[in-house]
Amino acid sequence: MTELLNHLLARIASQGPISLAEYMSTCLLHPEHGYYTTRDPLGARGDFTTAPEISQMFGEVIGLGLAQAWLDQDTPEHFVLAELGPGRGSLMADILRATRRVPGFHAAAKVHLVEASPALRKAQAARLAGYAPTWHDTAAELPDDVPLYLVANEFFDALPIRQFQRTADNWSEILVTATEGRLTRARATPAPLDALANRLADTAEGDLVETCAPAQAIAAEIGHRIATQGGVALIIDYGDWRSQGDTFQALRRHEYADPLEMPGHSDLTAHVDFEAIAQAAAPAKYTRLTGQGLFLERLGITARAQALAQHLSGTPLENHISAHRRLTHPEEMGTLFKVLGLYPEGATLPAGLSE
Ligand code: SAH
Repeated sequence: MTELLNHLLARIASQGPISLAEYMSTCLLHPEHGYYTTRDPLGARGDFTTAPEISQMFGEVIGLGLAQAWLDQDTPEHFVLAELGPGRGSLMADILRATRRVPGFHAAAKVHLVEASPALRKAQAARLAGYAPTWHDTAAELPDDVPLYLVANEFFDALPIRQFQRTADNWSEILVTATEGRLTRARATPAPLDALANRLADTAEGDLVETCAPAQAIAAEIGHRIATQGGVALIIDYGDWRSQGDTFQALRRHEYADPLEMPGHSDLTAHVDFEAIAQAAAPAKYTRLTGQGLFLERLGITARAQALAQHLSGTPLENHISAHRRLTHPEEMGTLFKVLGLYPEGATLPAGLSE
């Protein structure tokens, strides 16, 4: 229960306050006590639920969208079908089932998964047995000699962020320190920051901005592959075009919690800055940032929902209808969650997305 807290307190005692990024990556991925390393956090009995766990329709229409991109790019004979942070493997399983009847797609695809959690790798191996996936620790390890068709759902929000509060013309980093055995926030001495020089124009004193260097590094890896080899990436997450304000949050048993309490026992996330990802992915091109609801509608989720509904009645039918609503409705996941596509210069845009 308190092992990770003790570990963090000892580290702060010996080296001083730590960044939120260091706090977040320790809580999520500490080899023995990390949140993702030790458990499967998804589903009704876990801490949060994601779109692929809500309904198979999510992965099915995305799978057909990826297959369309493969057809649009002249059916490359070999390609990498990749997912970042595949959780239980449900999204990839639904993508693979839905594309089974696309002639040549499976024969050309090799499944690659980027996953840090041994517990979740086990779940993915069980779910995707028969497709012989290859696992990687980082996106940098993905092959770079064939086209890349990639999906990432609720992956980028789990990457460690840093927070900076603006002073008159400098930035003061928000840090994690300890007071009487409890974790609390502290502010570093204000200093100039090259990475945020461009944000002096659109912020005022007191405003808070978040940065996520790992997200930019991963976007650069993906963008490079897509620009040079072809393919597309679909990045789905909550967030906005530009980071502004404190979005660091914790979820435990489907309720919001204090992110500094019970380290290692809640899911820690921050909203995704899609602008930073789009720019880091250059020279790959990026699409307009589009609400998940509109994206799924354009991919035909309602027709798919109606087809599935024909075989259902009673409670299963009610659940199915409410799953469609949860994925698409503006008051549910429809506008909070957004989709960014990456594609090569001159290629057809990924289905469901616009310029
Ligand atoms: N995409 C899944 C799971 C989302 S949870 C779904 O939609 O259901 C976040 C996933 O990213 C988990 O599989 C987690 O173990 C993985 N993850 C988080 N941080 C990671 C990192 N730095 N490197 C690789 N995988 C990571």
